[in-house]
This record gives sequence, C-alpha cells and structure tokens, in this order.
Amino acid sequence: MSIRTAALLFVAVSPSAKAQQPLPGYGPQSAATERAIETDVIKRPSPASASGHSRALSKETHVAGTPAQATTRDYVINQMKSWGLETEVRSYDIWMPHPTAVHVSRLSPQPKELSLREPSVPGDPTSSLWQYPTVNGYSGAGEATGEVVYVNYGLIEDYAQLDSLGISVRGKIAVARYGRSFRGIKAREAEKHGAVALLIYSDPQDDGFVVGDVYPDGPMRNSSGVQRGSVLNLDGDPSTQGYPSRQGASRLAADRLDVPRIPVVPIGYGNAAELLRFLRGAGVPRGWQGGLSFRYHIGPGPVKARVTVRDDRATSPIKPIYDTFAMIRGSQFPDEMVIIGGHRDGWGPGAADNVSGTVSVLEAARAVAEAVKQGARPKRTMVFATWDAEEWGLIGSTEYVEDDSLRLSRGAVAYLNQDVAAQGARFGGGGSPSLRGTLRDIARLVPDPNGKGTVYAEWRRGSALPDSAEPAMGDPGGGSDFAGFYNHLGIPIAEWGFGGAGGVYHSQYDSYAWMTKFGDPGFQYHATAAKIAAAMMLRLANADVLPYDYVEYARTMRRYVTPLERSAADRKWNFPMTGLRSAIDRLEREAASFNAARDSVLGTSASTQQLQRVNASLLRVERALTRPEGLKTRPWFRNLIYAADEDNGYANMVFPSVNEAIRSGNEELARAELEDLTRRFEAAAQAVSDARSALRAR
Ligand SMILES: [Zn+2]
Repeated sequence: MSIRTAALLFVAVSPSAKAQQPLPGYGPQSAATERAIETDVIKRPSPASASGHSRALSKETHVAGTPAQATTRDYVINQMKSWGLETEVRSYDIWMPHPTAVHVSRLSPQPKELSLREPSVPGDPTSSLWQYPTVNGYSGAGEATGEVVYVNYGLIEDYAQLDSLGISVRGKIAVARYGRSFRGIKAREAEKHGAVALLIYSDPQDDGFVVGDVYPDGPMRNSSGVQRGSVLNLDGDPSTQGYPSRQGASRLAADRLDVPRIPVVPIGYGNAAELLRFLRGAGVPRGWQGGLSFRYHIGPGPVKARVTVRDDRATSPIKPIYDTFAMIRGSQFPDEMVIIGGHRDGWGPGAADNVSGTVSVLEAARAVAEAVKQGARPKRTMVFATWDAEEWGLIGSTEYVEDDSLRLSRGAVAYLNQDVAAQGARFGGGGSPSLRGTLRDIARLVPDPNGKGTVYAEWRRGSALPDSAEPAMGDPGGGSDFAGFYNHLGIPIAEWGFGGAGGVYHSQYDSYAWMTKFGDPGFQYHATAAKIAAAMMLRLANADVLPYDYVEYARTMRRYVTPLERSAADRKWNFPMTGLRSAIDRLEREAASFNAARDSVLGTSASTQQLQRVNASLLRVERALTRPEGLKTRPWFRNLIYAADEDNGYANMVFPSVNEAIRSGNEELARAELEDLTRRFEAAAQAVSDARSALRAR
C-alpha cells in the first residue's frame, strides 16, 4: 500500500541551485569523482529492461504466503546474482490466515448472493487467472447475519454522529466507504461499536466513474473492482510483537492476538449498490451522500445481509515469507549502510503496487552493479532489499528490522523506500527533513521523461510555487516499509515516486495491461524512479561526511511548535514552549556552524578515522530523537518526531508523545512529555556539536 499523506509545507530555503554547486559532504576531489559516477549511473536504468522485469513479476497474483510469491523471490535473487551481487534470503514464519471461502448475500428484500469475483476484461490476460478472494487481510472468520447500516467512512466522528441520531450498529452489518482513514481503523471502530460484520466498499466518487472513465476503457475503478487490503493495526507479525518471528519463535495464542474478530470484506460499488439502494430509515447527514445514483439512507434495514468468511487459521495459519537482499560491501566505511527497499508482495498482479517499486530497486541495483564493475566501488555498504508481506502489515520489513536492530541502529545511514514508484507522471517525494535536500539535488540531476527538463523542474512546475519556495514534501506518516527503520529505530528515510490515477489499487486489475495502457505505457517513469534511486544510493554511500541537513531539519521542526502551543492553549493550559523553541534554535545554530566547518575541513585531507568519528556523531542526531520505551500509547514507536495518527492510521502526527498527551487531556503527562522532547532536542544538538568537534580534532 502507499498513501502519501503530505502535510503540505513550503520550505523557504535556497531556490533552484546552480548546476555546479559543491556537493554537501564531499571534498573537491571526491565531488568530481562522484559527479562522474552519477552522470554515468543515471544513464543505465532502461525502460526496456524495466518493462521486462515488470512483465515477469506481474504475470500472476502474488500474495504473501502463496507459491507465486516464492517465484518472485527467485526472480529477484537470480537477477541480482546475474549482475554479480552478493545475495541473501531471510525467511520468517508469520501468523497469516488465508481464506477458504468468502460469501456476501442479501437476505431481504429479494434474496441474492452477490458475485464477489472481479470478472475478466478484454485485453487484460491476468484478469482471467486465479485471483485472491475478496476479503481483507486479518479479517475475523465466521458468519454474521443482520440488518445493514451505512456508516459513511466509518470514522470515529461518523459513529459519534450516528450516536447523536440515536442509531446503533450493535448486532448489525456496517457498510463503510473507503477513504479518509486506514481500513484497519474502520474495522476497529465497527467492532468497538458492536457491529457483527463490516463491508468496506469503493464509492465511485472516490476512485470510480465520478473521477474518470473506468477500466478497461479508462484507468479508474469499474463497478466490480475491489480494494483488498489488511485491517491489522499493528506493524509486523501480530503473534510476535516486538521480536523477529524466526522459525520456532514463541508466539501468542490465536485467541490473544490483537486482530479483528468480525468478518471484514471489501466489495465493489456494483455490489454496494445492491445493499445501499434498498436502505431506508434516516436520511443521510450532509456530506454522507456518495456517488451512486440514488439517495443514500442510513438504515438500519430493511435490508438484511449475511457475511461469511472461512479461513485456514485452525489448520495452517503459519506461513513462511521471504525478504531478499543484495549487497555491495563498502570500501572505506563497510559498517555504515545505505539501504533501499520495496515490497515484493501484492494483492493481485500488482504492476503498480508494488512491482513498480521492486523494478526500481532492481534497475537501480543493476545500474550500480555495472558502475562498480567499472571500478566505482562505494565507500559505504549498499543494500538492495525486497520485502514480503508488506500488504499484511509491513511484516517482512518489520521482522527484518527487529532481527537486525543492533546492526541497523549502529550503522544504517539511510533507508530509501520504493512503494508504487511509477503509475503516472506526477513526481512526489518526502521523508525525513534531513534528507530532503539530497533528494531535491538528485531530482535536479535526473531528466524528466517528458523531455522538457529535469524531474525537479517538472516537480516545481506542477506545484505552482512562489519563487523562493521548494516543492512540498511528505512527512513520514505510516503505511509503508520505512516504518520499522524510521518509527522504531530513528533511521533517516526518503521515498519518492511518480503518481497518477489510482483506480485499480489492490484489485486484480492492477496489471501489466493496465500499466501499459494507462499507468506508464513506455516504462520511462519506472526507469526514472530507478535513476533517482541509483544516484541517491551513490550520493549517500560515497560522501566523506554524511550529507544530512540539520538546518532544514531544525527549521521544519520549528514550524510545528506554534500548532502545538495552540492545542495546549485550546485546553486552557499555560504551557510555555520557550524551552523547546530554544533547543530547536540550538540545533539549527549547531548545524549551520557544522556545515561551515565541514566544508572547510573537506577542502583539506581528512583521515578515514577522523571521518568515521564525525559520521558516528552524525548518526546519533536522529537516534537522539527516539527513546527506548517508545510512545506511551505504542511502545514499538520510538521516534518522537513523526508517527501515524493512532485514530487515523494514514495521517501523520508530529511530536506524537506531546500531542497524544494533549489529546488525552492529561496536563501533567503533557508537561512531562514536553520536557522530555526538549531534552532530546538538546541531545540532538549536542550530537551535531560533537560532530563538529570531531572535524576539528586531528
Ligand atoms: Zn504497496
């Protein structure tokens, strides 16, 4: 999955830079070498080769835990080996029930069994192959019968509105539309309010005919298209929370897992209309009417339905998953690692989600491997990973991060994520503010496939910005494989991709045919995502001093203080933020003087040992903004800067430890959390200061 929830920020730092500016973190000599390598490497990813990988990896539905998914593992490993890379596969055993039967029937009026399968369409060969049943990952199993109630998006505030109308879903089947929140939150709220089953449908207003022509005539969702997807509100295997699910690991019993208990089934708007059209009772409040061609009602009833989900949890719930790794060992700083990854599993053929990201990782690996053969050995270790079972709850990446946490905490310089790297022409990027400058620099280097300029220039043009502003970049919220690296360990992350019409998300129609017709017909954007990937990897792997920008980081943080102050004031708390402000100010000051000192030292020759000490201090900066005990609400989430909003799942929350305390109304806790966060910013500033001292010491 990938839903980028960008808090739209306009960063008023240096406007478009000139071509031959110094490379941050590089001395003049190594900068010249690096420029030459990057110029070479970005020529290597090719649309033809991307198209070949895409066709091979999307030839069938490859859900985690199925034999088809083991085939994609072998494909990736064989390709990586053929380019001379060292490879490794890590397997984990995951509690992951697969369905054996899924049914939805209307019992009244006019009994009718709904046809759940997505029918085959002309011109799309994979649409007629085996498909994964339309059920949400980690749905409860069982059979439920009841009257139907329409709950809008199934948000917390929607249930509050139902309460105020005197309508309860207790004992009923809730029907919610997709959008505005992670589907796991919809399942949690429906169950909490007593619903016996939940149907989640794709409203045509969201990604169907209201938005554009539907597949196969257009890219948008047709009436039978279904958005599958997990309803797990955890990261990683629910039976081994916080530790890797290696073979033989001890596990929570099935009845103690934090997973939905009620059946949760996704349906298309054709089937949703079969239920919603006959609902009566209360008319819908403002904003609840969707795009179907009748007046919506809430119910309950008179429509009655039955939802059945059977699965293999009693017989074979544990399934192996496989992460793949390809490595190039660093020549100068072998213990420092730059990692790129994308998930390899999907809900259907998955040409966009996430064959496109896997292809970007593959093509970047090929480009870098070829450059290395020409003699350009990287200074740091590079890792090209693909993750399994992302779609079920970021499972493959989470198990790996838990497995290798010590090595990653110590040595991971950055994690770059590729989830839906190409399904259109509109560039978007984001991540930790410390890496945004590097991503912008690389976007200035890579030509846009439309031939009019660089990716950066097109990105700016598409954003309609005032002169001094940079294009908006997304904050790390939730929803993809960077979470383990970022939220759990505090490793800086970046992500990017080319977006477009997303009407086949998580359906059988996310296929090679859809991609060649609508998403990226020439595979130019796949190749371009890979060019950015290859150059990003090299830029981070070859720098003498890690090119993090803690000036931009501090400036970004400062903008969050006023809203924080406001939410405390809304509670009528007298909450001075002067301490936090001055800690952030200090971080910016230290970073500015570090940058100046770095540039002058890199003009001379520094020893490897000295650079190692500088980099070791820099690696501590964002780690200092995590804490071992994590958030009060979610101990696994150790990063105190960004986290997914617990009540939404996709939306991003800044300074979550403080903001959650304010939301809970606990003034004493909020005050303690603010002090804690302030201390951690002081420690981050100190780490930058230590890096500067290390620059001076000879
Ligand atoms: Zn995805």
